[in-house]
Amino acid sequence: MVQATTTHTNHRGSASQHNSASGGMNRQRAIQTVQGREPVKSSIDYTKTSVTEVFGTNVFSRQTMRTLLPRTVYKALVRCLDQGESLEPHLADVVANAMKDWAIARGATHFTHWFHPMTGLTAEKHDSFLVSSGEEGAILEFSGKNLIQGEPDASSFPSGGIRSTFEARGYTGWDPTSPAFIMESINGKTLCIPTVFCAYSGHALDKKTPLLRSIDAVNKQGTRLLKNLGNKTAKRVICTVGPEQEYFLIDESFYHLRPDLINCGRALFGAKPPKGQEMEDHYWGSIRERVLSFMMDTESELYKLGVPVKTRHNEVAPAQFEVAPVFESSNIATDHNMVLMEVFKKTAQKHGFRCLFHEKPFSGVNGSGKHNNWSLADDEGNNLLEPGSTPTENKQFIVFLTAVIRAVNKYGALLRASIATAANDHRLGANEAPPAIMSIYLGDRLSAVVDSIITGKADPGNSLKTLQTGVSNLPELFRDDSDRNRTSPFAFTGNKFEFRAVGSSQSIGWPNTILNTMAAESLDYLSTQIEAGVKAGKDLNTVVTEVVKTTLTENQRVLFNGDNYSRDWHEEAARRGLPNLRNTVEALPVLVAPETQELFEKYRVLSKDELHSRSNVMLEGYCKTINIEALMTIQIGATMILPAALEYQSKLANTIVQTKNAVSGLDLGPQEKYLREVVERTNKLKTSLEQLDAISREADDSDSDVLHHASFYQSKVIPAITAVRTVADELETMVDDSLWPLPKFREMLYIY
Ligand code: ADP
Ligand code: MG
Repeated sequence: MVQATTTHTNHRGSASQHNSASGGMNRQRAIQTVQGREPVKSSIDYTKTSVTEVFGTNVFSRQTMRTLLPRTVYKALVRCLDQGESLEPHLADVVANAMKDWAIARGATHFTHWFHPMTGLTAEKHDSFLVSSGEEGAILEFSGKNLIQGEPDASSFPSGGIRSTFEARGYTGWDPTSPAFIMESINGKTLCIPTVFCAYSGHALDKKTPLLRSIDAVNKQGTRLLKNLGNKTAKRVICTVGPEQEYFLIDESFYHLRPDLINCGRALFGAKPPKGQEMEDHYWGSIRERVLSFMMDTESELYKLGVPVKTRHNEVAPAQFEVAPVFESSNIATDHNMVLMEVFKKTAQKHGFRCLFHEKPFSGVNGSGKHNNWSLADDEGNNLLEPGSTPTENKQFIVFLTAVIRAVNKYGALLRASIATAANDHRLGANEAPPAIMSIYLGDRLSAVVDSIITGKADPGNSLKTLQTGVSNLPELFRDDSDRNRTSPFAFTGNKFEFRAVGSSQSIGWPNTILNTMAAESLDYLSTQIEAGVKAGKDLNTVVTEVVKTTLTENQRVLFNGDNYSRDWHEEAARRGLPNLRNTVEALPVLVAPETQELFEKYRVLSKDELHSRSNVMLEGYCKTINIEALMTIQIGATMILPAALEYQSKLANTIVQTKNAVSGLDLGPQEKYLREVVERTNKLKTSLEQLDAISREADDSDSDVLHHASFYQSKVIPAITAVRTVADELETMVDDSLWPLPKFREMLYIY
């Protein structure tokens, strides 16, 4: 039965007595709170300080090191950064000391090794610089050893089984290629040192170690291929990445009334708002003052941390936004994206918002992704995927393009696995994000180039270069070589590829590890072919033409310029034999397939054990995520929605009885029918909650292997969650608004 009175703690933290009609009252109070909010000022005034003065002030950058380190030490460090040499311990002491003095001068009291465990988040344990007090007073110290190595207990981080076979000890190790930085907090500052994280056995337990190894693999194979093509100057090949980040902002007063947002990052209940995104009025719309203040504040914080954020705009869904940085080398881009998410979450709270990075916080409107723009460059900064004005004659470009096409064709399933999470499943394949079928969009211009290579016919070249706007006094507008294709998971966008299927909450470390490893294998393959041809006495040009032609012919099935959302494409892709792995459970097994193990072992990115461990962590993560959502669905369903429905039902029943008593002989048929409809749904809510409860207990009890377990969650638990939600969402549109406890989508997505 419905309790007449409940005691609970409201979002301000004070206990309040109220009757059960307060569901709606809490929502009204939240709306009033939003109305009272003002934009919050950031700490930097750009009329007094310029961006160039602010940028990187909290980074122990090369520039800073050059001024603070003795010349010989600085030079050794640069060799370490640029040529992969390791730094001698006594030099590390010097670097550590300079880093400490710099950090302390800027107000830091603590330091932390900052790493990326397989939780997908970052981890930090702070230590002060204080080593002794006593008679001499406080002494602050930070040695080379403190800088180079830390020893966190690995036993509470996900290891996917590696730990049970080895020891619980874990190590963090300094990554000098990603600069240390200072994180500011209201009462102090902390020096953060980017590190890798591995087990006692040396097995990687983080997202950075394999990424660094994959960067190495691309460097080796990329420079070898460049050399084979006659490039005499390039010494290194690096992977460049610019991740565009989508997110939602929700006012904190609504957020606190949604246990699902708090615990699961997404709304497990909620009817589609009458107005969704169909008016197309939010995308690039003018940015509301409160949101713009938030964005500007995040930018100031990120500038200080040397994160080159560049673009800000409203996204497609209401209350959805995007930020994009200038691209950087993929290791730093990955660290910076993690820092960015952290700064966004923190700054949002300062502004009375909550920042949601979940892939699908609100069903019925678009979810969020992270477009991973990816390319390769040499150490002189030349983009190897830059076609130039005559791509057909640009041999180097054609060869590198061919390598990527082959990689995506050969390892499409692996690329798919790199973005497989419970959260991203809500988005992939829906009409907002590319489907789970991995294909490449090249655009008309490049497709013509590829066709001409395959068929041997002449390239038709550029036809139209300027845009005909039909307005005579406008300056001439130039047209890009390719149009955009928003439906392709992997699109060539002029001089880079855009991997659009990456999830918004994901660390980009893993997708880039896979992308780099796949690419390294293809670069290796092409080099081997070219070297063999040259060795057989053929001239380089002939060999390259032949190798490119054969490789493109063999891998052209992955190229698709059309609408990836269409049913036709799904059929066509099946005919071409391209995998369509629709959910995480279908997508992850490829990680432990023999050809994957061979690939990762060959380029020393991940050992067989490490791959298994990762696969386990991901499958376990999938099960845990769905389990939490099931439990939360049951709690909200049983303790918030069912009581509201029952109360409404009782209100209707009482009204009908009272009316009948007051006036005899009235026809109350329509009202009785309505009551019956409410009762029907309330019954259905109760039974579907019971079913979900039974099924999730069954899932919990099963001790089958993790893949079967995940499969049970996918095929049984998710449908049971959906059944509860469907009927609860119907009730939302029937029950008296003043009784409804959960902030509605029409409120959360519009009132801020
Ligand atoms: P879109 O039009 O897809 O929204 P944006 O201009 O917002 O694109 O973002 C494109 C992203 O691609 C930026 O982060 C940009 O720095 C990045 N980018 C540009 N060139 C390269 C490159 N060579 N390698 C990697 N990323 C790049
Ligand atoms: Mg994009």
